[in-house]
Amino acid sequence: MSGQYVVALDQGTTSSRAVLIDHQGRMVDFVQRPFQQIYPQPGWVEHNPQEILFSQLGSLTELLARHNLTERQIAAIGIDNQRETTIVWDPSTGQPIANAIVWQCRRTEPIINELCGTPDVRRRIQEKTGLLPDPYFSASKIRWLLDNVPGARERAEAGELYFGTVDSYLIWVLTGGMVHATDPTNASRTMLYNIHQMCWDQELLDLFGIPASMMPEVRPSASPFGETSYPGVPAGIPICGVAGDQQAALFGQCCFRAGQAKNTYGTGCFLLMHTGDKPARSTHELVTTIAASAPGVGHTEYALEGSVFVGGAVMQWIRDELGLIHSAAESEMLAECVPDTGGVYIVPAFTGMGAPYWKPNARGTITGITRGTNRSHIVRAAVESMAYQVADLAHAMEADAGKRMEVLNADGGAAQNRFLLQFQSDILRCQIHRPLNTETTALGAAYLAGLACGFWEDTGELSELRTKDLVFTPQMSEDRANALMAGWADAVRRTIL
Ligand code: ADP
Repeated sequence: MSGQYVVALDQGTTSSRAVLIDHQGRMVDFVQRPFQQIYPQPGWVEHNPQEILFSQLGSLTELLARHNLTERQIAAIGIDNQRETTIVWDPSTGQPIANAIVWQCRRTEPIINELCGTPDVRRRIQEKTGLLPDPYFSASKIRWLLDNVPGARERAEAGELYFGTVDSYLIWVLTGGMVHATDPTNASRTMLYNIHQMCWDQELLDLFGIPASMMPEVRPSASPFGETSYPGVPAGIPICGVAGDQQAALFGQCCFRAGQAKNTYGTGCFLLMHTGDKPARSTHELVTTIAASAPGVGHTEYALEGSVFVGGAVMQWIRDELGLIHSAAESEMLAECVPDTGGVYIVPAFTGMGAPYWKPNARGTITGITRGTNRSHIVRAAVESMAYQVADLAHAMEADAGKRMEVLNADGGAAQNRFLLQFQSDILRCQIHRPLNTETTALGAAYLAGLACGFWEDTGELSELRTKDLVFTPQMSEDRANALMAGWADAVRRTIL
């Protein structure tokens, strides 16, 4: 093993970052470059793959130059990325055939309705991929490109086009076109990957009319993906860690065993719980997905995943639309000004209710308002709404996994709010841990790469790097917590009537 650092390429939905991580797992520095969001029509979202590439490579080279680093000082590169986003390119020229279709893009709804409309097909897809058919995943996006880009289908059938999620495209470019590969965490978000047999599923490729020759090879998340060989980037750095952003965060939070979970409190919330070597099948509309594994684990590891559509975004609404606070950070102080919300609940179903309710047509409510309700009560109810939604997901997950959540590890922008995390602990009745370094996504990619190249020895060493957690334990009486949860359930009932 050589090199003092690992670099994580953290390829997100709105920006690309290169993050320098040292042997203690500390974030030494990072460079971030935003890129354009393209909205060609209502509901459509695209990225220019070249912009993704140049923002990512630009942040990498700037980071290395800033610290005068050569390839010898970088032990490895790890990649984590926005998931599902779909790129198709011509390997003979390196040119993408169209803009990337971003995970948020809804243009392929008609394809999903046409191909996955029957209960039988939905069941088959859920059995094989762990996912519920949706335009979100890559399969229908690839199909759309083959149907709509002139000549694409013929070229794909002649073996002249490659598909990849963003990780795959970056790997291919960075290795000078030598490696067309992805990892199981990203593959499991395409809706074309059989998460039990660990291979592209021919029946699903046929259903969507996608030639198998387009698909990348799937390699373990912590394994060699080739070496850098691209003009302007120091040559010969091994790329040996790859994972989709949420699974990278799970790994970065050191959730290596069944029952360990993390929640990212961002604009939305993403809750993932490790379920060990068992792919728990959800009866609550959660998805089953593949977790990133350390080298040498020897079997596939799985996770359950659920998301909250409106998490921290409720604070933006309170700030921008209601004008009750100046900054999201102010919400903590205001929430603590009152002992409780005085019976007020906000159910922020702005775009419907997700798992475990799945009521796309529901809209938000504020209930329990009295003449005495003031600004602090409303702000507190908004903060609490994040915790209640996460608690609902967590309870569904525990039921599906048949396992109690031991600890919930918190990250994301809103995890700065200590009141939120204490309240979460109170109503979930479990410990909440917030690590010192909340850049867990980049950390996960770095950990995978670092383990694969021997920079770190094993996951035990990684767990030991995590020493300065903020720990929240339940303070509230169980009776009170139960009464609050019952009040929330009642508010939700009124919302989804
Ligand atoms: P994303 O990566 O999803 O864009 P971040 O992880 O940066 O988002 O988190 C930003 C979100 O967290 C915003 O929606 C913001 O309103 C919310 N947020 C940030 N700080 C706080 C805070 N102290 N209390 C409550 N919410 C917060």
